[in-house]
Amino acid sequence: MKRFRCGDVIPGCTAQFAGTEEDILAQVGAHARRDHGVADVGPELVVSVRAALQDVH
Ligand SMILES: [Zn+2]
Repeated sequence: MKRFRCGDVIPGCTAQFAGTEEDILAQVGAHARRDHGVADVGPELVVSVRAALQDVH
């Protein structure tokens, strides 16, 4: 399982997501649209999210 802290990409955001990589990307996409006004979740954001994923044991 992996974890993503939105604050690693968008300073000040306290949202956290956990699950498989696909789960997290889907959750972050919805979160970015809803809470950060990101209209279009493009490849750069996906790369940033993937880079910030942490393994949770
Ligand atoms: Zn956020």
